[in-house]
Amino acid sequence: MTATAITAHQPDTEVAIVGTGFAGLGMAINLQKAGKEDFIIFEREADVGGTWWVNNYPGCACDVQSHLYSFSFEPNPNWSRMFSPQAEIQRYLAGCADKYQLRSKIRFNTTVVGARFDDASQLWEVKLENGKSVTARILVSAMGPLDRPSIPEIKGIDSFKGKTFHSQQWDHDYDLKGKKVAVIGTGASAIQFVPQIANEVDTLHLFQRTPPWIMPKPDREVSRFERFLFNKLPFTQKLFRGGIYSILESRVLAFVINPRLMKLVQTQAKRHINKHIKDPVLRAKVTPDYTIGCKRVLISDDYYPALARDNVNVITAGVVEVRENSVITGDGQEHEVDAIIYGTGFHATDPLPRGMVFGQNGIDIMDAWKDGIEAYKGCVVSGFPNLFIIPGPNTGLGHSSMVYMIESQIRYAMGALKAMDKKQLATINVRADAQRAYNENVQERIKGTIWNTGGCQSWYIDENGKNTTLWPGFTFAFRRQTRDFDLQNFETVALDQATGENKLMPEAA
Ligand code: NAP
Repeated sequence: MTATAITAHQPDTEVAIVGTGFAGLGMAINLQKAGKEDFIIFEREADVGGTWWVNNYPGCACDVQSHLYSFSFEPNPNWSRMFSPQAEIQRYLAGCADKYQLRSKIRFNTTVVGARFDDASQLWEVKLENGKSVTARILVSAMGPLDRPSIPEIKGIDSFKGKTFHSQQWDHDYDLKGKKVAVIGTGASAIQFVPQIANEVDTLHLFQRTPPWIMPKPDREVSRFERFLFNKLPFTQKLFRGGIYSILESRVLAFVINPRLMKLVQTQAKRHINKHIKDPVLRAKVTPDYTIGCKRVLISDDYYPALARDNVNVITAGVVEVRENSVITGDGQEHEVDAIIYGTGFHATDPLPRGMVFGQNGIDIMDAWKDGIEAYKGCVVSGFPNLFIIPGPNTGLGHSSMVYMIESQIRYAMGALKAMDKKQLATINVRADAQRAYNENVQERIKGTIWNTGGCQSWYIDENGKNTTLWPGFTFAFRRQTRDFDLQNFETVALDQATGENKLMPEAA
């Protein structure tokens, strides 16, 4: 029997999904495959793709091989490159939405502004920007942790009279040709767009606070023969995907198990600098002083050559002020610019703003997370029944494909829904002690990793020094722990079929 048989407290929809990136679409497809058609997907943008729709800056591409960075159940034999560009990934996701006929379930251009769990009905009320609201039994937050752009707090930043935008909100109508441009930040996004704009602008002032470690990018076209094979003999693509997975997974040995191995990788990264940058002053500027792997390891073959151009200045004196037409650095220099592009990342450790999600007894999730964001198995939070955050805290990776982690969490959520159907439950709420024990274990294991010991500051670590973002281990270990839904670690509310009332169950049956 499914939960749709319930008569009282009938929600507008059984499942509300927020976002149409890999997590949102993946969840929707799995629901559909399980015969659950009663769901709605809310999407702020005009098309599907999530991060792969909104991030469309020049040069945007994925730094994980496409044959792995895609759904296991929806292989694409026609990837054009090993590391496909953003537009191709977005088209892949759009193709998935079309194939599974999801577009009729998606409310495009609809921003979710809040969600509140109602203790009386045991339902979620999802509030929309247009003032309307929708009730749902299950809420899947598939918004991703890298959605809220972070703009630095710099003195005078609002007084700037020129053009400004964040990498995630690229203004393609603004012509950079012949302009003096400031780029603040040298992270994963900046190293992709800097080479694309360097030959277009008059001058590029690149404000670098911390240099990233960058490795050569093993990119190439996928040959026609390979594509022919993948199309005609699908098992060859499975083997190819498996090979990539195994190679990437072996990196855990250095990231987590023995960070000293990272020194070998660092030697290769230093060679990469020396190959492309001959000026010793510039070499020194771009050589990090922390162990490789502490921040996300980036890959690029065109970033260093771009920095070596005559019209690019790498500025390491910190930005202290922005004036009407210039950026001032700590050494007192004034750099005149027409535009400022922020490659300054996202609010990864506080992905939800305060006042957006309220759980049992009206508690704001940011209060529940006052000691740092955390979840049980990276997706459910005690006090927030029937809420699945995919991908959630401590599920990020420094070494492999997030789509693999997302699919693991979807499997866990589907297991939960199945258990709810079987036991006729209105809600499941992970026990606080189970969440605590799980996270103590994660934090214990993360202590010795390169991210915590590599001598850098990164968005992986929150303001209290806690690594709330990454999964410290093999991805197959995460898959193993999310394979079966463990109802015994949840408090449940049963649906009483006779009265239609909810009945609190102290222990899961
Ligand atoms: P990011 O990696 O967090 O980089 C932000 C950059 O801005 C850093 O260089 C940071 O310097 C700098 N910054 C921040 N505040 C600053 C300030 N006040 N003054 C000067 N510099 C400042 O952000 P991102 O490049 O947008 O990438 C974020 C994440 O998105 C990545 O780590 C990755 O997970 C994901 N991403 C993935 C891909 C992909 O190919 N799969 C591509 C792009 C992004 P510090 O290092 O000193 O903090």
